[in-house]
Amino acid sequence: MSIFSKIAAGEIPSYCCASNEEFYAFLDINPMVKGHTLVIPRREVDYIFDLTDEELARMQVFAAHVARAIKKVIPCVKVGEAVLGLEVPHAHIHLIPMQSERDMLFSNPKLSLPSEEMQAIADAIRKEFNA
Ligand code: 5GP
Repeated sequence: MSIFSKIAAGEIPSYCCASNEEFYAFLDINPMVKGHTLVIPRREVDYIFDLTDEELARMQVFAAHVARAIKKVIPCVKVGEAVLGLEVPHAHIHLIPMQSERDMLFSNPKLSLPSEEMQAIADAIRKEFNA
């Protein structure tokens, strides 16, 4: 079981931003910016392009709904999307609130936010997602 499967199953704690029967969204533990969120399928697949066409389509729609919720909570120009998957072998989409192109540079130093702030951000995103 991947670390992200354990997170989606609730076996490892996470700051949950959105969830349905097929997908799970949670704050990246080492965010590039406030509100940096990961979207995963509950089905454990390493490489995102090994998901079926239908899963990919539904995942993108789910990610769009999460991105709209993020945009309401985190002041930003747009929410950027990226897929790397070089560290964790469980398909995931990064959603990153951007002020500028620089916010999408994965070589940037990561933030370390207090857990209360992470919880408050996730709660606010989840509230918008469920609204
Ligand atoms: P990638 O696989 O796309 O290169 O990067 C994996 C991302 O997952 C990184 O941004 C990293 O901070 C995040 N990450 C790795 N392990 C955990 C974890 O246990 N919890 C959370 N919330 N994020 C994680």
